[in-house]
Amino acid sequence: MELRYKIKEISSEGLPVTEAIPAELVGEALSGVDCDLGHCTARIEARLCEVEGQIYLHGLLNVDLSMPCSRCLQVARVALKAPLTIVYVRDAKADDDSNEELEDVDYAEHDGKVIDLRPMLREQLILAVPLAPLCKQSCQGLCPTCGEDRNLTDCHHTGEAPESVSELRFSVLKSIKLG
Ligand SMILES: [Zn+2]
Ligand SMILES: [Zn+2]
Repeated sequence: MELRYKIKEISSEGLPVTEAIPAELVGEALSGVDCDLGHCTARIEARLCEVEGQIYLHGLLNVDLSMPCSRCLQVARVALKAPLTIVYVRDAKADDDSNEELEDVDYAEHDGKVIDLRPMLREQLILAVPLAPLCKQSCQGLCPTCGEDRNLTDCHHTGEAPESVSELRFSVLKSIKLG
């Protein structure tokens, strides 16, 4: 049973959860994302614990993505670790406001018998995808004038790509603050 754990086997000492996320689930989660699925993998390293009748999952979701760089469109390899703190409750909808919602904690449902990590993982994978991936921090992007890849050629156009302009402003602001 991949990514599904019987609640009666979870103790207060905790149950280690170290599994590769099946390619099928990764593909399903990232179906709307522009990425090279053959080179996208994910792995969960976490622990399930039972404390006073509540089930907690705490750990990391390690994600390796291959997607187009947001500046130059070449392959960007993105490796990230998303922290997971999930509280599994019997019926999330029946919960009223008396339960204080903690910050940085996500809630998920279980059926009283089995903790199924798949819906949560699908959601966390989507959330982990960066909006503006970069092939490298110093990527020069494409020239807004002629479209040449500025990492490969110097076309001598001076126009700034939009991202560079905002970054320039930011660095000016920072220097004012520090100075
Ligand atoms: Zn790039
Ligand atoms: Zn150019």
